[in-house]
Amino acid sequence: MTTALPFLPFTKPTIDEETIAAVGNVLRSGWLTSGPNVQALEAQLSDYFGGRPVRTYNSGTCTMEIALRIAGIGAGDEVITTPNSWVATANVIIEVGATPVFVDIEARSHNIDLDKVEAAITPRTKAIIPVHMCGLPCDMDKLYAIARKHNLRVVEDAAQAIGSTWKGQRIGAFGDFASFSFQVNKNIMTGEGGCLVLNNAEEARLAEKYRLQGVTRSGLDGIDVDVLGGKYNMTDIAAAIGLGQMKHLTEFNAKRKALAQHYFAAFGQDFEARSGAELPIADFENSNWHMFHIVLPERIKRSEFMQQMMEAGIGLGYHYRAIHLFSYYRARGFTDGMFPIAERVGKQIVTLPLFPSMTEADVERVVTAVKSRLS
Ligand SMILES: *Cc1c(COP(=O)(O)O)cnc(C)c1O
Repeated sequence: MTTALPFLPFTKPTIDEETIAAVGNVLRSGWLTSGPNVQALEAQLSDYFGGRPVRTYNSGTCTMEIALRIAGIGAGDEVITTPNSWVATANVIIEVGATPVFVDIEARSHNIDLDKVEAAITPRTKAIIPVHMCGLPCDMDKLYAIARKHNLRVVEDAAQAIGSTWKGQRIGAFGDFASFSFQVNKNIMTGEGGCLVLNNAEEARLAEKYRLQGVTRSGLDGIDVDVLGGKYNMTDIAAAIGLGQMKHLTEFNAKRKALAQHYFAAFGQDFEARSGAELPIADFENSNWHMFHIVLPERIKRSEFMQQMMEAGIGLGYHYRAIHLFSYYRARGFTDGMFPIAERVGKQIVTLPLFPSMTEADVERVVTAVKSRLS
């Protein structure tokens, strides 16, 4: 009889005792909703993003919806995005009454193919929502050149990209809107949550209004509601978790990068040629290594592969199924074959375990298990 190794999930948050104590202090304080911790977290995030205004929310989905509302995008407008993302990225476009226009992805980066974007622009196109997939940034020079040329707003879905850089500058520290998620799987988390990086004080004022029912102050003791807003504010409980996570962000990202480097070393130079599988782009300069994926060769059935890995005590994810093939999107006219690269990736991709408390031995265990099933 062999001793089974402990189950290895594809991701897991790292939470220190200080953070747990800080949450206890919030609960004891009696002030649980948005308060001093939210303010402190927003101030830290603003520093992190080069002094730009930042507001926090209860998800990294409503952040994108609010950015679209601030930009005045709605019925009759088209927004270009990628079919290879969490469905939130496209849902928010429909949520504000606009129409999503998908552009296929690049085969290797899995980011939107910027060379195909201009062909999708019409007189109704108002914005583009690119995703920095797994923390690997899109080509920011190309992206903003297209946006400037066609007068488009950009809402960067940077949900996965906190700490990623482009030519030495942090994603979110430059550009137009940048939306980050603090959902529990992300590089730092607040249980659920997110933040939006904005361009100026006027946008920040609107970002607060849309966060809380459209309420605006008027007169000395009065309020008014002059736009339709939602209920999207972050609690001080969540913000206390975020403050605890911020202390470790640099260290978490460094650990992820080291583990990703170890994955490449363990797979070895000839893994792709031998197996027909595809590894991620080995970018150790810009990416925050939010996830480490492999795209399985056509001959391998993903569900069977995932089941076999599960039997070996290794949990995998898949990020993501192509958005346009979900029933709701098919009902809007999308079909198979429209975005072939996103479809192939969506069918064959798996996410391997990668999180800060993993060890190099864990990485080797995963690589051995993958190789034994692919060779
Ligand atoms: C996590 C994620 C979102 C959504 O964030 P939530 O905080 O779960 O709402 C959106 N887009 C991408 C690419 C994500 O990874």
